[in-house]
Amino acid sequence: MSQIKITDSVKYIKSVGPKRAELFEKIGIRSIKDLLFFLPTRHLDRSTTLTADKVIDHLINGYEGEVTIIGRVVDSEIIRYGKKQIFKVQMRDSTGFFECVWFQGIKFFKGRFQENEEYAIAAKPVLTKYGNLQFSHPDFDKLDSEEFSDFNNTGKIIPFYKLPKEVKGKNLGDYSLRKIISNAVENFGNQLKETLPEEIIKSNDLGGINETIQSIHFPNSLEQLGDAKKRFKFEELFYLEALLALRKFNIKGNIPGYSFKVKSRLVHNFLEKLPFELTQAQLNVLHDIRLDMESNSPMNRMLQGDVGSGKTIVALISMLITADNGYQSVIMAPTEILANQHYKTISSLLAGLNINVYLLLGGQKKSERKEILEKINSDEKSIIIGTHALFEDEVIFRKLGLVVIDEQHRFGVAQRSRLIDKSHSPDILIMTATPIPRTLTMTVYGDLDLSIIKERPGNRLPIKTYLRGEKKLPDIYKFICDKNKEGYQAYIVYPLVEDSDKLDLKSAETHFAELKETYFSDISLGIVHGKMSWKEKEEVMKGFSDKKFDVLISTTVIEVGIDIPDANIMVINDASRFGLSQLHQLRGRVGRSDKQAYCILVAEDKFVVSSNKLNFNFEYLSNAQIEKFKAAIRLSSMVKCNSGFDLSEIDLKLRGPGNIFGTEQSGLPNLQFSDLREDTEILLNAKNSAFSIIENDPTLINPAYNCIKRKLKEVYSENLKFSQIA
Ligand code: ADP
Ligand code: MG
Repeated sequence: MSQIKITDSVKYIKSVGPKRAELFEKIGIRSIKDLLFFLPTRHLDRSTTLTADKVIDHLINGYEGEVTIIGRVVDSEIIRYGKKQIFKVQMRDSTGFFECVWFQGIKFFKGRFQENEEYAIAAKPVLTKYGNLQFSHPDFDKLDSEEFSDFNNTGKIIPFYKLPKEVKGKNLGDYSLRKIISNAVENFGNQLKETLPEEIIKSNDLGGINETIQSIHFPNSLEQLGDAKKRFKFEELFYLEALLALRKFNIKGNIPGYSFKVKSRLVHNFLEKLPFELTQAQLNVLHDIRLDMESNSPMNRMLQGDVGSGKTIVALISMLITADNGYQSVIMAPTEILANQHYKTISSLLAGLNINVYLLLGGQKKSERKEILEKINSDEKSIIIGTHALFEDEVIFRKLGLVVIDEQHRFGVAQRSRLIDKSHSPDILIMTATPIPRTLTMTVYGDLDLSIIKERPGNRLPIKTYLRGEKKLPDIYKFICDKNKEGYQAYIVYPLVEDSDKLDLKSAETHFAELKETYFSDISLGIVHGKMSWKEKEEVMKGFSDKKFDVLISTTVIEVGIDIPDANIMVINDASRFGLSQLHQLRGRVGRSDKQAYCILVAEDKFVVSSNKLNFNFEYLSNAQIEKFKAAIRLSSMVKCNSGFDLSEIDLKLRGPGNIFGTEQSGLPNLQFSDLREDTEILLNAKNSAFSIIENDPTLINPAYNCIKRKLKEVYSENLKFSQIA
């Protein structure tokens, strides 16, 4: 064995040989090392093997985990329900009966079970409504085969490997694979090169890589298995954070940005005219921004602030500093309505300050567009506002110094970098009104500096939020009419534009027509939706803002950023359809003055559930039930909770780990071991470790970090492209 290296072909492992080596090749396992990193998806823990009576006891006492149970097959049958089939196996052990059921792959499973043979079954048990102990789609193994000679030893934890379908059943089964990996671990499981620096392993109390590989495959105890998993989680999060740190410090280190002088004549003049004082939170953020702008490395800052916290002014002041230094700023909005609103607000706030403001949108006339493009290409100190239209190649900036991206959640990194490429490393300020859970701030946006505005300006009262069934709608309409006499305007939001046969959702147009004739015959109604051109939308929004309409019927086009202070009632129909951050955004359209604001969520009765009946345990619920529960939790969370930051944490819990990352957009590697909803502590440690190393040594010159360099090149070369490291 001694001359064979870990990087040699897997065929040198005992019981592999050339044939199986070919099979392994099909699933990307070439070297012995590859095989060592083919990790079990789960383990079968002998110490939790239970008898049927004990399993039932556990279930009655609320146990929710998995169990292993051993029994003999009594009978099996395929049951047909209309077009559907179920394969059911009846089994028993010395204490009672239990059954296993399959809804898919029936043929396959039918072939695996023989009467009177003994099997080990592992799954989450349930009690059916007939009181039967049931396992659906369990993992299983036949016991009297050679395969389980090991299993019969007590106290062992057995690894399970999920065999990809390319190799399944082709001369490589669970048993043989386990044996092969066991041989590999035994003979080569001490030859891996360390993949984390010694200091990091020590300070985070982790196991070494060889020890970890041994115990992830064949742990002696659950504790050992836990330690091994922890090291894998830490390691993947460490490299994720290292990539982010490289992005951050290499951008900072390599490319000098502009070093702006924060002369504040323009800012001073501007603040004198502003009808209100900046809040302390706004001043703090501006302080961060000024330091960034003065420094000669480019600003890369994310500004998180709840809806209505006053981010726009902050951005505007940063743009004035830029203009004062003779550079252009651009503000990029996710929708045309919002771009247009920024254009108007900013133009009027800047009146008399001798700064030109331009608006570039998709649907503008050719001649108009040409003129604006020329200005963008020539007017040095201007402020440019636009949508995605700003990405286009024909947009050439004269001297772009600052890029502000509003409502960041709609743009991905790739889009961001496209805009940035249009200039020589400008300062970047990304604003988001959707507060982002802490773990995501540390990952997806981990390369950005962070400023947070928590307080809202003025003497704003908290918005009162109610959840009502649909039969309450007439009362709600009456409430709107009554409040209208006090000068309140209202939004009524619907999920769709037109009625659709397929989805029985309330549509904006149908209701507009209906309400106009009935409940709102005495007050005036406007309607706005996504199928209108932006000019039409703009006209309606202006009408609403000028109080030509009392009530605005709309779809979610008003979701983001719209700012109309006298509109203080928000009614959201079919609220169960909306995501949590969308609901919070919509609610954020009201509560923009000192008056009491109201948000009324309207939903079918089944979603109107009192919050103390809800919890996050979805086990044993059908998908439809889970969706219903989640909707009910979203709605009751809205009622209980006004803070976007708290809501974002709830949202994260409700969503599956897969949905969280949006990796294609972020350019970050997928997480295989960690769950950002649970592994916050490990993430924090991994981040601190990675950032402190790379901040001090951005090119990893210290020989102690060779292992980091090696792994980055071997595993993460794809992800390095946003980090500008060679
Ligand atoms: P958002 O953070 O959602 O973008 P905006 O910037 O649109 O919030 O601000 C919300 C409203 O609060 C606007 O009408 C704005 O003029 C107003 N505002 C901003 N800062 C202050 C302040 N310091 N005092 C009073 N009102 C403010
Ligand atoms: Mg805003």
